[in-house]
Amino acid sequence: MDGFGVNSGIIVLAATNRVDILDPAIMRPGRFDRKISVGRPDVKGREEILRVHARNKPLSDDVDLARVAQTTAGFSGADLENLLNEAAILAAKENRPCLNNADLERAFIKVGIGGEKKSKIISEKEKKIAAYHEAGHAILFHVLPDVGPVHTVSVIPTGTGAAGYTMPLPDRDEMFLTRSAILHEIMVSLGGRIAEELTFDEMTTGASQDIKDATERARSMVMKYGMSQSAGLINYSGEEEVFIGRDYGHTREYGEETAAILDREVRGIVEDCYRKAREIIETHRPALEAVAGQLILREKLNQQEFEQIFQEAMNGKE
Ligand code: ZN
Repeated sequence: MDGFGVNSGIIVLAATNRVDILDPAIMRPGRFDRKISVGRPDVKGREEILRVHARNKPLSDDVDLARVAQTTAGFSGADLENLLNEAAILAAKENRPCLNNADLERAFIKVGIGGEKKSKIISEKEKKIAAYHEAGHAILFHVLPDVGPVHTVSVIPTGTGAAGYTMPLPDRDEMFLTRSAILHEIMVSLGGRIAEELTFDEMTTGASQDIKDATERARSMVMKYGMSQSAGLINYSGEEEVFIGRDYGHTREYGEETAAILDREVRGIVEDCYRKAREIIETHRPALEAVAGQLILREKLNQQEFEQIFQEAMNGKE
């Protein structure tokens, strides 16, 4: 910064993802006076970002960027750019001059899940297990108020190695999560395993990522968010980890006894969620059967198809 006179009329702009490792000399008063932190865009911001990146891409009439903005809560500017690029690639592959809503839907799944691999061969048995597993997730997404609704549920293997996926529609821009929302997310994560147990009386390794997600959420509730009675309003997770600096030089600042309490709390949350989620899936068993059956036949269901199958199955029960 040295070398600029007071009257030189030059404004220096700089951007970083790593505020934590900046040289303190740069942060001294008189160097960078204004600090603006840029978070993820809200719905209005997303719409405008989409308009910028759609500028040189011909869109067909069925594309509504305002609607796309509503369904992409949590996307960064780069994610939105990526979404439009992927949609344009899909249109170009089929020699269409404009990109349409179906391209955006497929791109949305690709950006969110990592693309579908229709060429991967899976056995009928694997497909059946995946169908019940995903139906278990989908039913909880649909029934629990703080998560979902279901955008797509599929048993087409993904590029990331999953046998299927259930994508919720993010319909809110939230600044923070409530306790019950986190509990509902944990329940949804466990839904796949529960459906497998109920249907096949067996477990598979397919739920490992789900179990990891559930554990991480329960752990954060206890260690970070002060949401457990016995653990209290204490941060046990150490320094707030930043970006790539995750877990760097992380040390534990509590004893064995506290560690045991924390473990018990985390375990208690997961077990409680498991019990509640299992109850819900048991009471919606006809929907589980119907959704899994249709997934085996059609491999992929959109929101409208899923909800119709769910409704009909549950009405038929009465
Ligand atoms: Zn799963």
